Amino acid sequence: MNLFRQVPKSLLPRRLGRAPRFYPSPPPTFLLPTRQSSTSTSDPPTLTSPTTATTAATSTYKTTERRSKKPHLHTVIARDPKLNGARLTNTKRTELLLNGMPCAFDNIFLRDACSCAYCVDPSTQQKLFQTSDIPADIRPLSAMTLEDGAVRITWDPETDLPVTNPRRENHTSLYSAEFLLRYSKQRHIVRYRFNDRKMVLWDREVMGNDILWLDYEEYISPLNDEVGLYKALQALSTYGLFFLKNVPSTPSSVETIASRIGPLKSTFYGSTWNLRSQPSSKNIAYTSLNLPLHVDLQYFSMPPAIQFLHSLKNTTSGGHTYFADGFRAATAIRMTSSSLWHSLLTYPVSFHYDNDGHHYHHIHPTVVLDENDYREHKRIKYINYSPPFQAPFEDWPGDPQFSGRFRLFHRAMEMFAHSIEDPEAHFEVRLEEGMCAVFANRRVLHARREFDQDSGERWFRGTYVDEDAFLSRIRVLGRRFKGKGYEREEAGDYGYVEGV
Ligand SMILES: [Zn+2]
Repeated sequence: MNLFRQVPKSLLPRRLGRAPRFYPSPPPTFLLPTRQSSTSTSDPPTLTSPTTATTAATSTYKTTERRSKKPHLHTVIARDPKLNGARLTNTKRTELLLNGMPCAFDNIFLRDACSCAYCVDPSTQQKLFQTSDIPADIRPLSAMTLEDGAVRITWDPETDLPVTNPRRENHTSLYSAEFLLRYSKQRHIVRYRFNDRKMVLWDREVMGNDILWLDYEEYISPLNDEVGLYKALQALSTYGLFFLKNVPSTPSSVETIASRIGPLKSTFYGSTWNLRSQPSSKNIAYTSLNLPLHVDLQYFSMPPAIQFLHSLKNTTSGGHTYFADGFRAATAIRMTSSSLWHSLLTYPVSFHYDNDGHHYHHIHPTVVLDENDYREHKRIKYINYSPPFQAPFEDWPGDPQFSGRFRLFHRAMEMFAHSIEDPEAHFEVRLEEGMCAVFANRRVLHARREFDQDSGERWFRGTYVDEDAFLSRIRVLGRRFKGKGYEREEAGDYGYVEGV
């Protein structure tokens, strides 16, 4: 059975023209819009209430303002004539116009976001008060739009926080136009942290065209302002895989490579580890047998996000390494059967390492979604899949409903395995001396073919980096290189995969 025959061809990742997006999606960019148009970037702000929408209809602001390039903000604090512009009462919100559209922000939210020196320590950037310190009746006394579109709000001293305003003086908060625009749409908030990056689901053909082979010097050199590193992080983010070449064959190279992204994750294998075949090995990875597609350290509650595998020597015959996109396989099931998809999201699978003085164990569902995603169809965040380290299932078999649940999961697993084991899904490479594979451990499954131990020497060194360090790095570099043209535009050729 060819799994993908069951999925409409238009939904599979292929070249543009044959590969539309899975879901209606915004433009494939994770930056704030710079080009305003009435169709794409001026969608009604999500924070607008029905009341404010009615007010908007009577607004005197012209709709042409929506096309303005510069964020156009007006406070409408004085809209109620009875208040004569003095203060807002009987409301919890302050309404601003962003690009001509009314956008209401909760007063507690605005006061909480004050970044003045009384509220956020200028040196540590740490907040100096608690959200719970803000009185529920906090309200602005006045608000003013500045020339650059920023808004300055002066808070009513009677309602302001005693903590940051002990003498009950007028406390002033300044909000940049960029800040207010960002919080006018959920999509903008997510993209600000680079958490909404392009993702391309790939198979052999796609990865064959797109794979990034980066020279070690370009990756490591500080001379190029970390452009090489940024390219690498984008490839990791989009495809979950890239390779380095011309890596020095020294044992410390893998540490040097990983440290460019973040601190090494130390486990009971050490902060770095060797992959060399050994007789009577404690771990299947240290033998010369076939090692099926899997995620590493699945028996941890939080398996590492990035894995590095550096080949220092490879003169054996066989032992090819291959990779498959777990997100693509899961997506195919998502598009095919809601019951199987639900099973992947919920059925508890046990993983363990109970050997050699260690007893690690953790239960994961096969697919974890990004719960913070703003879309109806949330993107996939992690795949949990490691047949060699599965423990017996802990769903109670005595439950009369057990077989129904378990067999549904079994069918989902059959389909998932069939999909990832299809040779058309694989990107296969022989890791020769000087090559290093870097991949998203929780997305891209990796495997190794059997090799002949007696035919030569095989020595790989590996390490891991955690997700938080990787995300921090890509945010910092993303901010530095924003708009400088280093984004991998070709990624869009295969469709921006929303909701995956
Ligand atoms: Zn403040």
